[in-house]
Amino acid sequence: MKPLKLLTALALAIISLASCSQKNETPPNILFIFSDDHCEQAISAYGSQIINTPNLDRIASEGMRFNRCYVTNSICGPSRAVIQTGLYSHINGFKTNRDTFDGDQQTFPKLLQASGYQTAIVGKWHLKSIPQGFDYFEVLIGQGPYNDPPMRTQDAEGNVVKVNNSGYTTDLITDKTLDWLKNRRDKEKPFMLMSQHKAPHRNWVPHPKYQNWMDDVEIPEPETFWDDYSGRTPPASRQKMEVGRHMREKDLKLDMEGNYAEKNREFREAQPGMTDEEIVKWNYQRYVKDYLRCVRSVDDGIGKILDYLDESGLAENTIVIYASDQGWYLGEHGWFDKRWMYEESLKTPLLVRWPGKVSPGTVNEDIVSNIDFAETFLDLAGVEIPKNMQGRSLVPVFKGNTPGDWRSSFYYQYYEFPGAHAVARHYGVTNGKYKLIHFYGPSHIEGEEYDDWELFDLEKDPNELNSVYGEESYAIVQKELLAELQRHREDLMVTED
Ligand code: CA
Repeated sequence: MKPLKLLTALALAIISLASCSQKNETPPNILFIFSDDHCEQAISAYGSQIINTPNLDRIASEGMRFNRCYVTNSICGPSRAVIQTGLYSHINGFKTNRDTFDGDQQTFPKLLQASGYQTAIVGKWHLKSIPQGFDYFEVLIGQGPYNDPPMRTQDAEGNVVKVNNSGYTTDLITDKTLDWLKNRRDKEKPFMLMSQHKAPHRNWVPHPKYQNWMDDVEIPEPETFWDDYSGRTPPASRQKMEVGRHMREKDLKLDMEGNYAEKNREFREAQPGMTDEEIVKWNYQRYVKDYLRCVRSVDDGIGKILDYLDESGLAENTIVIYASDQGWYLGEHGWFDKRWMYEESLKTPLLVRWPGKVSPGTVNEDIVSNIDFAETFLDLAGVEIPKNMQGRSLVPVFKGNTPGDWRSSFYYQYYEFPGAHAVARHYGVTNGKYKLIHFYGPSHIEGEEYDDWELFDLEKDPNELNSVYGEESYAIVQKELLAELQRHREDLMVTED
């Protein structure tokens, strides 16, 4: 090589190294947009035929859609505590919605804050104790209402104060998210912002502009809507979460005025002549439409935030992550609510856009979880992941380099008793192909204890209608999953049921 060419090559190498290290020195901003009870069945990027969610779809088409994001415990507060700590519920202490989060323990926001990140949370917190590890918080009190929500924040002296707001909660959370991005943050620091919606949690109250949206549409009932639970052990038939029998007047907006008054009058007049089946169908239409109307406002808000990221130039170095605290039954098995290890509530949506790192339009089938979120946020920021955390960073997965020793199965546990909707306590393991569930502990029928096992072949029976537990042809699968279940329980330090 001639000296001049050699010099040029050397100079180019130095420039490329310098730019590379410069890039490494600019940690990404993290925008975590989170909703409550939003299932994949209500996101068009996941193939929903009953709603169009163009803004969520934009995250998916410009990034990665995860098809197997499982939650460790399918219920609101506990999922949030898992995300804060990277620990299963029995380790972080927040096992049921009756618990209060011990905010003194190690959490990812505290670790990010110590590393120089600016941390903020706006919207639903739902962990009862005051948020710790955040430079800024403005959070709903408890569940928070759909309109005019009072919120908790800190004044200039650091005192926790209550502030009143007027407006539609979903829109307010979007506006407060934008306000923080535009006006409140320190623009010299990378940020981690959690923008967390109350919607579409019950009792579904749409924005007035959407109250009549889809009035003229008939939403198709899911395939398993009329499930009779005959192929499963007793817990499935003993729940109290059927759209037909267990929805309350409040859930169905039978107590609402405004645009609902006329609709309700029509229903009350028609009801005496309706069959039981027609009433169940009517409940379903009213419920699902209100749920979808609430989702629409979440999607609108995401559109505004994505637009702002583009306009401000923040989009390039901001990773946008969308998830919900768990999945949800939109009429599947005849149900609303969550809690079960069955697919609809075990899964939660996960969409990730990270320009230059995540290939646009990719779909991932790895088993990932909300137990991985804390580790992922820390890894993105270049912060060492504490050894006691029980998940793994998703950063290599985002980049399309899933480690060879990635998990091939997943442990789930629902600990609540007596819980809402009479769902039995259970734990189980799934590898995506098969699922083993053990119902245990007291039944909601006095004096009864559950000790029921179910096994599903998810490829042959994706709707989980027929347990094959104890069938000869599944003996080997059953034995392997039992061993896998035991291994997880030891690894995850499950010391009690
Ligand atoms: Ca929830």
